[in-house]
Order: sequence, then structure tokens, then C-alpha cells
Amino acid sequence: MTEMTLIAASGTALPPVRVNRHLIGGAWRDSAEQSERVSPSHGVVVSRSALGTEVEARAAIAAARAAFDDGRWSGLPARARAAVLLKVADLIEANVEPFALIETLESGKPITQSRGEVGGAADLWRHAAALARTIEGDSFNGLGADILATVLKEPVGVVSIITPWNFPFWILSQKLPFALAAGCTCVVKPSEMTPSTTAMLGALLAEAGMPAGVVNIVLGYGDPVGNVMTADPGVDMVSFTGSTAVGRLIGRGASDTLKKVALELGGKNPQVIFPDADLDSAADAVVFGVYFNVGQCCNSGSRIILHEDIAADFIARITDLSRHVTFGDPLDPQTQVGAIVTPEHGARIDGYVQAAAAAGAQVVLGGGPLVVPGLGAQFYRPTIVTGVTPDMAIAREEVFGPVLTVLTFRTLDEALALCNDSDYGLSAGVWSENVHTCLAFARGVQAGTVWTNTWMDGFPEVTFGGMKQSGQGREVGRYGLEEFLEIKSVVMRIGRTRANWVKTR
Ligand code: NDP
Repeated sequence: MTEMTLIAASGTALPPVRVNRHLIGGAWRDSAEQSERVSPSHGVVVSRSALGTEVEARAAIAAARAAFDDGRWSGLPARARAAVLLKVADLIEANVEPFALIETLESGKPITQSRGEVGGAADLWRHAAALARTIEGDSFNGLGADILATVLKEPVGVVSIITPWNFPFWILSQKLPFALAAGCTCVVKPSEMTPSTTAMLGALLAEAGMPAGVVNIVLGYGDPVGNVMTADPGVDMVSFTGSTAVGRLIGRGASDTLKKVALELGGKNPQVIFPDADLDSAADAVVFGVYFNVGQCCNSGSRIILHEDIAADFIARITDLSRHVTFGDPLDPQTQVGAIVTPEHGARIDGYVQAAAAAGAQVVLGGGPLVVPGLGAQFYRPTIVTGVTPDMAIAREEVFGPVLTVLTFRTLDEALALCNDSDYGLSAGVWSENVHTCLAFARGVQAGTVWTNTWMDGFPEVTFGGMKQSGQGREVGRYGLEEFLEIKSVVMRIGRTRANWVKTR
């Protein structure tokens, strides 16, 4: 049997190189220098972007500060803010094709997936619009005849949003519309590898009627642009998605001014499979969970923990299924798995696999880079590694590639101990037809999201975020909105009923 299903270059004509500029205070601005993005799948320059410095970062923060302080956005009735967010959603839907094409060329992900992400992001904007009109606080009417107190929710202020390259438009849409619904103003920095859809959104925001200065976009590297966005006293909150290492730097950088920080970081997400599970569905979900986005996914189901009784059978099932997953040209609609984001990252993935093999693990499928006919070599084989022990780096660290590690267990307690023996706590899954097993697992596992008999199902309503070193704070849904709200207590005395503190006579 062949080792895998390859999709060769489709020969689709590429669009002209896209040029991106900063959006600051409603004006498009260039920089003295530009960065270029070479498509990981096609090996040619697909976008050229202004390379921001501290100057552009500070100008964008000043613009967001002015827009917040004069109330041009936060002072609008919530229904007016919601109306703009709804228009943005419509415009996103009308522009799925150009957004998806550049997202695929910059990131290497399959075009069908990019279409799904961009189209799906419109729903995040709609949900945020709905939530904008539900912001409410508390009132206390039982504190005494002469006292009335209320707790108000107010926008936090200026929010820095820093996003990664793996789901550029989706992750932006998990943050920006919720910050805007709350009434915040924003400075956004996409990864310099995938800046185009963020810049393209800037044009749609203006078309939808967003006042100038409410959303500012600065293109460039984490150092210097992200650093300024983290430390500048004009910023009230930083919302970041990316690596745990950079998350720590952001926490440190924001600490001098004690900004609010929301972090969505890495994961080493386990799926536990019991013998009574629907093994067909479980195998399909495991294969989806590890190869989706070439495994470059914080929610990657990169660890499976199999009951010993079914381990051999289950490994055979997923090995067979893996051979049918289509790897190759991201522009071909048949492709399910595309390219690795950079050559350096490909080498890092391979390093984990080689180290595990050297330490005694078995690479039962794949292992090593892959050349797609007509395209480059920036692809990686679907890979399954068994005989892994919990102390190996491949079992503990975020590989961020199409690499599945397999561990085994005998009892629920053992499975939970393996799951929880991790610095991370983003998501976890359990497969069993026994509801008691599923519930006991859901209660015992340390993870921000638990899936039972499914994997990676997500909805704008259902909040998302991590425990332990997977992050702090929550995104999307009601709790996602709350992140961007500050709480203010107002205590009111009715009439002059309080005796003076100072006795003058
Ligand atoms: P990073 O965490 O380095 O980058 C994420 C974003 O943060 C980018 O916009 C980056 O800018 C920016 N950034 C980098 N340094 C700083 C800084 N000091 N201050 C402020 N912002 C900064 O992720 P990478 O892209 O380098 O990926 C490395 C690894 O991180 C992956 O292999 C994976 O393990 C993990 N990762 C996890 C993600 C998740 O969804 N949880 C997403 C992406 C990565 P720029 O890169 O433009 O300089």
C-alpha cells in the first residue's frame, strides 16, 4: 500500500503580489522598509508589507487612545456599534474568495479550509454584534432605604491585539469584534508572515462605517512593534495568541503598567479512547485532530491515549486512514493538508520525530519532509509515533506538525494522570459510549475545553481558553466579551441622611 495520498501542483495561476500598508488614524501609511512573504507552498513572493517600527506603533496607539477618549465609538449606543459589526460580517461574506486565496498563499493551508475560516469568521462578528446589546451590570436595592448601588460594565479602553500565523483571520475575529462590541478601540498586529487578510479587513471596516482611529493596524515584527504594543502606557489591555514563550514575554512587558493581559497559548491536547467507544468515529476524529492545519494548531489532538485492549487495532485503523488523507497543493480543492509555515519550523518538527526515534520510539508511519510534485519541499509526511514514554519531548512539548504520539492506559485514573501530567491545559477529549466514563473524565481532566465523542467542535457561543500554561482569560461567547469590560461600582445616597463625620458642634 502507498504511504500517503499526494495532490500534485494544480497549475492554478497566482494573483499579482499584494501590497499591504499600515492603517493609522484612518489613513493608510507606508514605511521606509518592507517585508516580503514567500508562499510556503509555492515558493514565490505573494505579498509585500510595510515593516513597522516603534514610530508607527506609537502613532497607532495615540490614534486609538484619542478615539477611545473622545467617545466616538464607546459613546455610541450599543445598537449603533452592533449595526457596524453586522455590516462588517456581510462584507466579509461578500469577500470570502479574495481573502481565502491570499490566506492560503501566505499560510500554506488548503483553499477549502481558508474559505471555511473566512466565511465562518463572519458568524463571530455577528455573534459579537448580538452580544454588544446585552452588556449589563447589577443593581442593589436592598442596602437600606437611603442607598442605591449599581455595578456598571465599561470598555477596558485601548486594546492591543497580537495574532499568529496559523489562523490569521479566524483568531483576529475571535478577538477584534468582541473588543469592539465592548466599546474598546484597538491596535492590531498580525504575524509578519500572514498580514494580508488583517490589512484587507481594514478596508472593509471603513466601508462598514467604523469611525477612523477605532481600529488601527500596524504591520511588522514582534520586536519592535509587539513590544511597544505591550509596554506603552497608552494601552490598557493586551490580547495575544501565540506561543507560550512569547506569552510569558507579554506578561512581563505588560507588568510595569499592570495592564490587563489575555493569553491564548499552546496545548498538548490528549484524546483518551476507551474500548467501548465508537472506534470508527474516534479514529476519524483523531486523524482530523492531528492533521488539520498540518497540526499547526493550538488545539491539535497531538497525543492519543489508548486503552491497552484496543491499542494495536486502533493504531492500525488510524495508520490506514492517514494514508487516505490528501496532502499537497493547497490551491487544489481536493487537498486536505497543505504546507508547513517555514523551512525552520519543518526542521523543528522533524527534530522532535528524530529525537523520539533515537530514544526508542517507533515511527510507524511517515517521519520526514515531503516533496510535492510541481511544488517545493516545505511539506511534512503524516506521521504516527508509538512506543512513546511520557518523559519524551515529543509527548510533552508542542510539536505543531502532523505528528501523532501514542501512549496507553488501563484505568480511567491512569488516563487522567497521563492527561494532567502536562504544563498545558487547553483541550482534551474522551471517547466512550458510557456517559459515566465521559462525565468522570470531563470533571477530572485539567483543560479549558473538554470534548466527549467529538473533537474541535466550536461555536461562537461556547467560550474558549486554556488552563495552566495554555493561557489566561477566555475568548468568544459571553465570557469573551467580558474580558474587554471593566467593572465600576457606583454607590448613591438618596437624600442627606448620613450624619457628618466631622463634628463641628
Ligand atoms: P509567536 O508566539 O512567536 O508569535 C505570535 C505573534 O506574536 C506574532 O504576531 C509575533 O510577531 C508576535 N511576537 C513575537 N514576539 C513578540 C514580542 N516579544 N512581543 C510581542 N509580540 C511578539 O509564534 P511563532 O509564530 O513564532 O510560532 C512559534 C511556536 O509558537 C509554534 O511553533 C507553536 O508552537 C506556537 N504557536 C502557538 C499558537 C497558538 O495558536 N497557540 C499560534 C502560533 C504559534 P512576528 O512573528 O511577526 O515577529
